[in-house]
Amino acid sequence: MQLCPVIKIFLCEPHSIQARVSGNDGGSIARRDDLVRTKASVETADKDEVRHALWTQCRLSKARLAKPVMVDRLGQLYNKDGVIEYLLRRGQGEASASENHVAGHLKGLKDLREASLTPAPTSHDRHDTDAYPFVCPLTQRALNGKFRVVCLWPCGCVLSESGVRETTGVSKSSAESTSPCPVCNVPFAHAALIEAHAPAINSDVVWVNPPAEEQTAMREQLAAQKKTKRKKTDTGAGGDKRTRVQAPTLNDAAPGAYAANQVRRAQENAARNAPPTRDSEAVASLYRKSPSKRDVWLGKQAS
Ligand SMILES: [Zn+2]
Repeated sequence: MQLCPVIKIFLCEPHSIQARVSGNDGGSIARRDDLVRTKASVETADKDEVRHALWTQCRLSKARLAKPVMVDRLGQLYNKDGVIEYLLRRGQGEASASENHVAGHLKGLKDLREASLTPAPTSHDRHDTDAYPFVCPLTQRALNGKFRVVCLWPCGCVLSESGVRETTGVSKSSAESTSPCPVCNVPFAHAALIEAHAPAINSDVVWVNPPAEEQTAMREQLAAQKKTKRKKTDTGAGGDKRTRVQAPTLNDAAPGAYAANQVRRAQENAARNAPPTRDSEAVASLYRKSPSKRDVWLGKQAS
């Protein structure tokens, strides 16, 4: 927009609320906030780009979002391979500061959940990078960041908030504390949809790509939670970990040593003969709170 010289003068003058514009319409009154709209439109363009990136790209690899897509407690979307690659690189100290800012709170895949997303109709060109890849299965609207979207954490379904409210009938007078997911019927605690407080990181309802200020508040909650956990470990709540993990060495000559050895051997045998788990050890270990995650990512425990 080309600003006429008269308007420019008024823009520089902080006390002038109105400017008289002598245009073809014979002199219309332009408010000051009309005049500063140029700057606003530039900011909107930037915001649109950010919004488009949030709903079409993996937060870490920047590749186009494609299933399997993972979501974290902050409502950020990732491609599964993008997260795994990041965790591997972070384990080797090769992750960038911006990546750590986005996903530094993730300890492993257990901090994420696979999002159940509905692909947009196939009429969209797959290679059209502008198209939004997913829609709300309830309203069929493209997930483009122009309305609030939730992920129901127990089942992973990603739906528009308005769709969930309309189909589940959640209201302040709801007697039940849970509602069934409108898509898959898995119950979720709907308190977050009723109470008007800021989103909580442990809620069953996670807002996907929430406004920046909400996400910042949740990052603070995560940091506070981490601190509390660390404190508990330091003060040895439930016993000192190191003492519990390290098995005492046995003096064979000590009284009762033979029996203790027998018990230990029996326990080892039982563990060895335990039925195999559904997932391979390497996959299962990704979900465990194992301290040796670097080895896990490097596949050293797979053998
Ligand atoms: Zn569901």
